Amino acid sequence: MKSDIRVCADWETAHDRPVYTLRDRCPECDGPTANSAPAPFSPEDPYGEYRRRARRRDAE
Ligand SMILES: [Zn+2]
Repeated sequence: MKSDIRVCADWETAHDRPVYTLRDRCPECDGPTANSAPAPFSPEDPYGEYRRRARRRDAE
């Protein structure tokens, strides 16, 4: 199923978490949004953050 969900392009600096929307503008900061299909943080490894978080947890 194709997704049209977009995410605030500047969420990493503007928000604590990704802000998803279907519109061209972020509903919270009115900034531009990007298609959320490629993960905003790591296009090559969408689950990288997940793994890093798990590994960090293991190390503690
Ligand atoms: Zn925003």
